[in-house]
Formats: sequence, C-alpha cells, structure tokens
Amino acid sequence: MHRKLVIIGSGPAGHTAAIYASRADLQPILYEGFLALGIAAGGQLTTTDEVENYPGYKYIKGSELMDNMRAQSEACGTEIVSQTVGKVDLSKRPFKYWLHPMGDEETLEEETHTADAIVIATGAKARRLDLAGEEKYWGNGVSACAVCDGSLPIFREKPLVVIGGGDSAVEEASYLAKKASKVTVLVRRDVLRASKANARRLSSNPKIEVQYNTQGVEVKGDEGPRGLMRSLVIKNSRTGKTEEIPANGLFYAVGHEPATHLFNNQLKMDEDGYLITTPGTTETSVPGVFAAGDVQDKKYRQAITSAGSGCMAALEAEKFLAEQDDVDVPNGIDGETQVKKGKPEANGDVPEYKENPLL
Ligand code: FAD
Ligand code: NAP
Repeated sequence: MHRKLVIIGSGPAGHTAAIYASRADLQPILYEGFLALGIAAGGQLTTTDEVENYPGYKYIKGSELMDNMRAQSEACGTEIVSQTVGKVDLSKRPFKYWLHPMGDEETLEEETHTADAIVIATGAKARRLDLAGEEKYWGNGVSACAVCDGSLPIFREKPLVVIGGGDSAVEEASYLAKKASKVTVLVRRDVLRASKANARRLSSNPKIEVQYNTQGVEVKGDEGPRGLMRSLVIKNSRTGKTEEIPANGLFYAVGHEPATHLFNNQLKMDEDGYLITTPGTTETSVPGVFAAGDVQDKKYRQAITSAGSGCMAALEAEKFLAEQDDVDVPNGIDGETQVKKGKPEANGDVPEYKENPLL
C-alpha cells in the first residue's frame, strides 16, 4: 500500500497532524499502535486522570480528551489503523515501512508499505530504575502508572511509595492518596522539579510524606512466583543511612524515554535519544520526515505543545508534498505515471499548484 502521508503515533501530536492533513486532502493514514511500547493508543494522557491545562477544557479525563481527538481525526477523514509500525527504511523516497502483526512486537508482517512523507509522533514511555527486586515484583506491587494500576485491591489502605519529583510524581501521589493509607514520595534531590501549583498539592495532603535526598534501593516481598511486594529499602544520600519501610506498592514517576528506537541510525538524535529537528520547524535530518510531540521535545512535553507541533508537522508535510508532487509526467511506455522530483522551475515546466506553495 502506498500513501502520501503516514503518521506514526496517536497522542495529541499525531491526532493534530492527522486533523490538519485530512483537512488538506492528504488522506493520511495514522498508525495508533497496538499497545506500542506498552502504552494504549491515545498515548500518555490515557494514563492520567485529570487534565486541567488543555485549553477549552476546565477539566477533562485524559482518556476522554484522547477519545475526542481520535473521533475528530476520523471525522476529518483520517484512516486510523490499530497496528504498530515495526520497522522503517528512510534511506530513500518513497519511504518504506513494515507493521507488526496485532499484539506481536517480535515479528514483522511481510508486506512492505510506502509513503511520500512521514510524521513521527511516537511520543515517549515511562522510565524504570532497574532496582533490585523490581523485575520480580513488576505487576505485583511495582508499576509505572498509578492511574492504570492504583485502584487494584492490593494497594487499598496500604502504604505506597512514589519515586520522582516532577509533575507526574505529584499527580501519581495525589491519585494514590485517595485510597492508600499513606504515600511516601522519594525525591532524589532537595527540591521538587514539579510546578509550584503542583508542589502545593503535595504539602497540603495529610496522607503524603515527602522524603528529600532519598533513593530507592531494593524491592522486597513474598517469595514465590506471584509473591507481592511488602517493603522498600531506601537510602538517604546525605547521611548514607538505609532503612526498610513498609510498602505494598512502588510507582515510578522518573521521567520518560523518547520512542525513537525505530529510527536509530536513520535520523539524527541527541544524547538522550530525542529526535533533532531544525529549530522552529518539525523537519528531521531526512527531508520528508517530520517529528512532532514528545519524541522531539525534552523541554516542554505538554499535550498542548505536542498538539501545536503536530499542526506544524502537517503543514510542513503538506508544503513538502506540494513541492515534490506538482508535475506528473506520463511514462509513455506502459502508460503509468512517474513523478518528477525537485523544483519544477528547474526544467522550465509551469507547475499547477494544488496547495499554496508559500505556506
Ligand atoms: P504520546 O502521548 O506519548 O503518544 C504516542 C503514541 O504513539 C502512544 O500511544 C504510543 O503507543 C504510540 N506509538 C509509539 N510507537 C509507535 C509505533 N511504532 N507505531 C504506532 N504507534 C506508536 N500534559 C499536559 O499538558 N497536561 C497534563 O495534565 C499532563 N498530564 C500527564 C500525566 C502523565 C501521567 C503523563 C505521563 C504525562 C502527562 N502530560 C500532561 C504530558 C503529555 O501526556 C504528553 O506531553 C503528550 O501526551 C505527548 O504527546 P505525543 O503526541 O507526543 O505522544
Ligand atoms: P520529569 O519532569 O522529567 O521529572 C522526573 C523526576 O524524576 C525528576 O524529579 C527527576 O529528578 C526524577 N528522577 C529521574 N531519574 C531518577 C532516578 N534515577 N532516581 C530518582 N529520581 C529520578 O518527568 P514527569 O514528571 O514525568 O513530567 C514529564 C513532562 O510531563 C513534564 O514536562 C511535566 O511538566 C509534564 N506533566 C505535566 C503535568 C501537568 O501539567 N499537570 C502532569 C504530569 C506531567 P531530578 O529533578 O533530580 O532530575
């Protein structure tokens, strides 16, 4: 299958790109992922309860906001496919890509698809700390998503720990405190990274205790294959003192890694793996490939900034395609058409523009 524009990813960046591209008649296809990287289609906002800073909504559930975006993408004409893109070849145009079969991230489908332009909006995924015991109790106490797992009965009226000092840590702790007996937040430095408004939520909640300069060391719990977490060994980095505190749950909120492994050795990335775009644009190091949202933004990482860059990516892709696509020449031998690449003025043709080339 060949498409003019393919959008990979289904967070605010991908859907905003899809809305703009559909309205520009680019007939985009959007791959929303089938639990790509363990994240539901719709992206990171599906893992949060409250969104209070997306313009137009005083308050909305993250999953509802993403359902709305998806519905709008579809209503505008985007084809949405619930599959994960498993491999890309960006070495020449048309770009090639392959899909994972549904629910299988090991193998690739045989069919090769092609695209004239690609918008990458694969977002980011929660980081883990690889503490001793983490793997053993993963899913049986250890989690990276309070909204997804926090309501499980194993956490009710129990002491829980959140590691991290950013906005996510505050949100996770506040969410968990509704049902836990106590929530301890471990912050590795002596300050929070979270916004002041969010930080106030921590200090004003009587069920939440913040321990600064403190790190997690080891997760402990019941023996056996389905044993539950029971405690966490922590260490104060100032005093060097370690202690074991009761904890039936450990929730990581230590930031995210950009979902860029697909593009290793194909697109320029910074030292943390974020895609590098030309400042003020969404252009990556390969012409025709655009990046939007958290996958290229380690500074703001907000739904609204992701949506904004998704809009930019679609407009830039539209301009790119108009420049590439403005002269179709009959092949003469078998009647097929071929597209002349490059600027039309170069060989004296007068282009019939389909879009405003000055955009
Ligand atoms: P993401 O939301 O990361 O979505 C990317 C999607 O693409 C995912 O669904 C992923 O599965 C999919 N994908 C990845 N790889 C592939 C592939 N190969 N093929 C197909 N699909 C793929 N921001 C705010 O503005 N307000 C908030 O209140 C807020 N709360 C937050 C709460 C939490 C707990 C977290 C973690 C973040 C929060 N943020 C908030 C930040 C916000 O969620 C992100 O900035 C935003 O979602 C990034 O959007 P994105 O489009 O870049 O990608
Ligand atoms: P973040 O802002 O990157 O914060 C990560 C936190 O984890 C930091 O406090 C960091 O400590 C800590 N950390 C990192 N590695 C660690 C380690 N090895 N051990 C212990 N602690 C470690 O990530 P986030 O909180 O997930 O937020 C991501 C983005 O989403 C941000 O832009 C945030 O504003 C946004 N967001 C917004 C909202 C909202 O507006 N309501 C809610 C959630 C998220 P240091 O500070 O020492 O680096």
